Amino acid sequence: MKIESKAVHVGDRKKPGTGIPSATPIYGATTFSYENTAQLDKVFGEEEEGHSYSRYGNPTNEALEELLTSLENGTTTLACASGMTALHVAITVALLDRRKSVLMANAIYGATVRLATQALEPFGVELHLVDICDLDAIKAAIDEHKPGCVVMETISNPLLRVGQIDRVAEMARSIGAALIVDNTFATPLLVRPLELGAHMTVHSLTKYLSGHGDVLGGSVTTDEEHASMVRGMGKIYGPVLGPFEAYLTMRGIKTFPLRMERQCRNACRLAAWLASHPKVAKVNYPADPKHPDTDTVARLLTKDLYGAIVSFDLKDAGKNEVFACMDRMKMIVRGTSLGDVHTLALYPAISSHRDIPPKQRERLGIRDSLIRISVGIEAIDDIIADLEQAIG
Ligand code: PLP
Repeated sequence: MKIESKAVHVGDRKKPGTGIPSATPIYGATTFSYENTAQLDKVFGEEEEGHSYSRYGNPTNEALEELLTSLENGTTTLACASGMTALHVAITVALLDRRKSVLMANAIYGATVRLATQALEPFGVELHLVDICDLDAIKAAIDEHKPGCVVMETISNPLLRVGQIDRVAEMARSIGAALIVDNTFATPLLVRPLELGAHMTVHSLTKYLSGHGDVLGGSVTTDEEHASMVRGMGKIYGPVLGPFEAYLTMRGIKTFPLRMERQCRNACRLAAWLASHPKVAKVNYPADPKHPDTDTVARLLTKDLYGAIVSFDLKDAGKNEVFACMDRMKMIVRGTSLGDVHTLALYPAISSHRDIPPKQRERLGIRDSLIRISVGIEAIDDIIADLEQAIG
C-alpha cells in the first residue's frame, strides 16, 4: 500500500484480542464490516446477531444499556444523548397507538412541560396538568381527558413531593394509558418504577448515575410491551448517546450506590439543620416529619434513604436576598444541574422554572425565596458551615 492508503487502513479494524478488558472499550466506530457481504446482509436483516451501524447499536452503548436495564429491572434500555431526548422518545412511543393526550404532573422539571407545550402540542397532542399527589384529582383528570399517557417524577423538582407511582399506574392501566416515570431524583437505588407498575422509566444520566458533572445523557428503560417500539424509535430518531459518554456513565455507575448513599445521608443532616435555622421559613425534604407525603415516602422509598436534594425558603426573601445569599457561598457551586459529587445551589426561579409565569410558580409553591441544594459527597460539616455563613 502507498502511504495514503496506509494512513487509512493500517492498524485499524482488527478483531479484539483474546484477553477480556477490565472495562468496556469505547467503540468510536460508526460502521461494522464482515468477512463477506452475505454475512453483512444477515446482520442487516437481523437474521444474525451483530452490529452494522452505530445508530442501530453500538457495543459500548449496549454495555451501558444492559447495566441500566438490570438496575431498573426492565426489559430493554435505550441510551440517549440527554434526559430531554429520552423523555421525548418515551412520550412519543407511549402515544404511538394511544390517544394523543398527555396527563402530566403540574410540579415537574420546567423543560418537561415545555417539551409538551412546544414540541408535542403543535402536532395535536393535548396536555393536561394535575397535582400528582392528589389521587382524586388524578382519577377525575383520567376520567375526563382519557390520556394516552401519564408523566410524573418519582421525587418532584424542586418541591420534592412523592407521588404514589403504584396507584397512578393502576389508574393509568385501567384505561389502557401508559405511565412514564422520570426517576432522575430518586435513582434505582431508592425506587424502581417498573416494579411498581410503570411502563417506562426515564433518567437524565447527566445527574446521579454519571455523577461527576462531565456527561450529558439520558435513558429510557421499558417493560416488555414497549421494548421493541423504543428500540425501533431509537433507530429512526437517532437520539443515541455517544460511546465516550456511555463509557463515562458506566464508570460513574460503578460508584453510584456509594455516592448516592452518602449524598442522601448528608442531605438528611442538612435538612434537619436547615429546619432549625431561624432565617429559614420552610424546608422541603422527604424525610422531614412535616413533609406532606410521609405515608407514601415510608411505603415507596424503601432503603431508609430520602434523596439528596433539599430545597428551602429563605425567610422574608425575594430575588435580591437570594442572589446575595448565593453569592456568599464559597465551596458550594452556583449553577444548574444536580447529582454531582459536589454540592450545588440552584435558584429555580431563574433556571429550571424560569419559563413558568411567576403567578403560576407561586401557586405551585415555587416562590422567589426558594433555593434548591443538590447535596454532594463532601464532609457535611463543610457544607453546613458554608451555608451558615451564606445565610448569615
Ligand atoms: N428530568 C429531570 C428531573 C431533570 O432535572 C432534568 C434536568 O435537569 C432532566 C430531566 C433533563 O435532563 P438533561 O439535562 O440530561 O436533558
